[in-house]
Amino acid sequence: MKKQESESFKEYKTRVMDSKSATFCGAKWYNATIWLGHGQTTSCHLPASHDIPLEELKYNPSAIHNTSHKKKMRKMMLEGDRPPECYKCWQVEDGGEDKISDRVFKTIQYDESDLNLPFSKREKNTRSVWKLFDWYKNKTRKRNDDTFLRTLEVSFDRACNFACSYCNPPFSTTWVKDIKDNGPYENIQSDKREHYISTADWAANVAKTDEDNPYIQAFWEWWEEEGGLVDTLEEIRITGGEPIMHPSVWKLFDWFKNNPERGKNMRFAINSNLVPEKEKTFQKLLDVVQYAPNFEMFSSCEATGAQAEYIRDGMDYEVWINNVKRLLDQPKVKKTCIMMTINALCLGSITDFLDDMLALREIYGKERSPLLSLNPVYNPEFQSISTLPTYIIEHYNDKLKAWHDKRKEELGDSENVWVTRIIDHMNRAINNPHPEELLKKRQSDFKSFYTQYDERRGKDFRATFDPIMVDWYDSLTVEKNTNRDEEFEKTEIKLEPIITDEEDKHWKEYFDQLENNNIFDCIKKKNVLEIGTADGMFWKHYNKYNPSSITGLDPDDRWLLKEGVKESDIIRESYETYLPKTGYDVIICFGLIYKLHSPIHLLELIARSRPEYIILEDIDFSTEQISLTKMGPNTNKIGELIVIDEISCPHVTRLSTNIIISIMETMSYKLENNIELKIKHPSKYETSQFVFKREKHENYRLRDRK
Ligand code: SF4
Repeated sequence: MKKQESESFKEYKTRVMDSKSATFCGAKWYNATIWLGHGQTTSCHLPASHDIPLEELKYNPSAIHNTSHKKKMRKMMLEGDRPPECYKCWQVEDGGEDKISDRVFKTIQYDESDLNLPFSKREKNTRSVWKLFDWYKNKTRKRNDDTFLRTLEVSFDRACNFACSYCNPPFSTTWVKDIKDNGPYENIQSDKREHYISTADWAANVAKTDEDNPYIQAFWEWWEEEGGLVDTLEEIRITGGEPIMHPSVWKLFDWFKNNPERGKNMRFAINSNLVPEKEKTFQKLLDVVQYAPNFEMFSSCEATGAQAEYIRDGMDYEVWINNVKRLLDQPKVKKTCIMMTINALCLGSITDFLDDMLALREIYGKERSPLLSLNPVYNPEFQSISTLPTYIIEHYNDKLKAWHDKRKEELGDSENVWVTRIIDHMNRAINNPHPEELLKKRQSDFKSFYTQYDERRGKDFRATFDPIMVDWYDSLTVEKNTNRDEEFEKTEIKLEPIITDEEDKHWKEYFDQLENNNIFDCIKKKNVLEIGTADGMFWKHYNKYNPSSITGLDPDDRWLLKEGVKESDIIRESYETYLPKTGYDVIICFGLIYKLHSPIHLLELIARSRPEYIILEDIDFSTEQISLTKMGPNTNKIGELIVIDEISCPHVTRLSTNIIISIMETMSYKLENNIELKIKHPSKYETSQFVFKREKHENYRLRDRK
């Protein structure tokens, strides 16, 4: 049974989820997004993706979902702890008892019998997961903590013939080609994801053919085996890149053709741009959809004609809408959904697009016509609606409101909710515009990006959009010279943003000494949080120890991240607001404790999240007054200590080694390793390094902070 009809979401949460554990989420067990091309997975769209360890695939194809990382996160949930990667859900829930986070919406779709399984004893179960276990009992691996999947979103590759303006190289080979051919986009300041700069080689397919790709091979093995994906999945959704460019998608259609009985209840969905390079590819799709059980088609568009073709480079609007109709003509297509990605450029023709969609209802009827969903673009920020000036947003909001008043009866309930949300979204942008400085930066990026986009893609902004947009566009100027490195150099506040070669050498020497003293042995295969991660300069060293994951915590988002450190790996909060809610295996805190006037407070906060190990660095600057002109208490924001603020900090409290050890002992952390280094730390002071291990007895408990 799923949610009872009379039940509110909160009641469902209390009855089904809280009764199991305070942090349970069905998505961790029964849902996955898997990028088979480059071997990453995540349990839902909120946590960052993580690598699928190849050694785990050796005996266990289900490790494309059942990674050791996910198992750890599941274990935390079973014990009522909060997996740190799910912090977006915890943030919502910490907003108040009535707040419903995504984990409720994700869990609700699964049967309670499935949700009970992780909490049941094996002998009481007859579900296929235990059959699976038996099937594998002769293998050399343990599978009793593996689980089956009910819903799967899978990408075989990032190959795509489109390069939509808000998309990026990790999802489109055409985008990769743009950057390879023309170089990085210049003067983009507000997008910190490096999407318009880098070709994202980490997202490239690991092999040229499917046969050589171990993740795709594991998928097929798990798909076919008894009790495997075919037997447990309720829905498989293929995403990309563009799915129909990939041979494995055609192989799936063939599989369904040859196995009409197995998997017959599964929903088979494809997320396609519907405009392949060759017409015969689309014809092939029309031919094979009849073999897929419960076939569902998802596609994206939100504008018409030339505007749609401008936003979605590669699109031919006429071909697209005609292909939607050709699919609707196929009786075997059970459902069609059009996802509208609401960005700053679609507002001029969004109502025409909605008209086109409603026109399909006259031909195909409401039931059969595409279901619409509307989601605003938040990233890149400069393509979001809120980058537009208020008078333009008002102009288009009035137009959309008038359209909605006229035609809302023709929309479904959920569609009316979506449209109303977009109107509210625009109202918020009108009533609470971004601070001028931020807006200026984004608008400069808008102009800079589309000027380069026009040149690279042979497009013409001025000829495509409404005069109101073109006049505003022409009034914008590009802030050149605003490369983030240079911005750092220019700013009065110097935060040691870029480590020079000379400094790098010192850091390396320093790190070598830490390694020689086995400071980092404890991070092997652990989930690590580094507080005050800055640009992630140590991550390449940490990675040598093969940690399961590294997350950074740093409130300052102006760092130019080191290679291999993704913005999505960094939590942009001060340690005080974030840390108590976490549950990492290891917390590393370098370069912060000796800059605080309240270091005991930091130690308490770290201990509160109960990691197995805590690694600290302290610096003895007692012989000379350290000049802390770069960090210190934030004079503007009460309660934040690590900030860029041009002050000297006379209130720094130095804790002696003995005091640190005794404070940690009172919180049940025992010193495992303590070294004092007399090395040329870039600050030129001697440092002490501590590795503390949590004691087994958990008699030290800090109350949860409200
Ligand atoms: S708890 Fe939230 S973030 Fe984590 S898997 Fe569930 S829905 Fe996703």
